[in-house]
Amino acid sequence: MSERRTLQLGQENIQYILTRKKMRNMRMRITSKCEVTVSCPFHTPIADVEKFIEKNLDWIKKSQQSILQNATSLERYEYMTGEKFLYLGKEYTLMVKEGAERKVQSAGDYIFMTVYDLWDFEDKRALLDKWYKSQANKIFADRFSYLKFLHKDKFAGNYQLKIKKGVSTWGTCAVSKGVVTLNFRLIYAPIELIDSVILHEFCHFYHIHHDKDFYGLLSTLDPLYKEHSKALDRKYIDYTHYND
Ligand SMILES: [Zn+2]
Repeated sequence: MSERRTLQLGQENIQYILTRKKMRNMRMRITSKCEVTVSCPFHTPIADVEKFIEKNLDWIKKSQQSILQNATSLERYEYMTGEKFLYLGKEYTLMVKEGAERKVQSAGDYIFMTVYDLWDFEDKRALLDKWYKSQANKIFADRFSYLKFLHKDKFAGNYQLKIKKGVSTWGTCAVSKGVVTLNFRLIYAPIELIDSVILHEFCHFYHIHHDKDFYGLLSTLDPLYKEHSKALDRKYIDYTHYND
C-alpha cells in the first residue's frame, strides 16, 4: 500500500510516496518525474522514515537536479492521443488527428490537435507550444486588467504586462518602468495561482523588498498568499517541465 506524504524540513516541504511492503531495509528512489518514493518494511515508524529522508536530503536534491538537467529524461511526450497535459491547473487529454489545417482547440477535458503529419513530433510540439502561448497571452492579460480594476484604489498607475518564456521566476516587477513580467509557464497553473503571482508583483509597486510592509499589503489582497506560494513551489516541476 502506498500513500502520499509531506515532510516539513525547515521552510521546505518534501513530498514523497511511502510504500510499506515485505522487505528488510528502507529504500529510496527518485522517479523520472522527480518524485521521491520510499519503501519500507511494514511496521517502520514514520519518525524513522522521516529521519531517513532528512539524512538523504542532499542526495534527493542532487538526483532531482540531474533529472531536470538531463533534457532527454523529460522528453516523455510524443504528442499522441491519450497523453495528458496541464492547462490552468487541470489535466487535459490530448486528441490528435491528421487534417488539412494545423490547429489546436480545447473543449471539455480535451485538447484537440489537427496536424498534417501525425509523426512529425517537432511540429506537434511547436503547435501545442504556440497554443499555450496564445492562451497565456489572453488569459494573463485578462487577469492582469481584472485585478488592476478590482484594486484600482491602489493600483491606478499605467502598468504594463509582459510575458516571457525562460524566466527563472514566476514573475518580476520593474517598478520604475511599471512593467510586470510573468513566466509563460504559469499557464499550466490554476487561475488563483496566476492571480497570486500578479498580486505579488503589484505589491512591489509599493514595497520593493519582501519586508513586513510588503507582506502586510499582499495579505490584504491575497489572504491565502502563503498557501498559493507553497502550491507553486510544490508543483514547480509539474508546471515547468512541459516544454523546452
Ligand atoms: Zn517579489
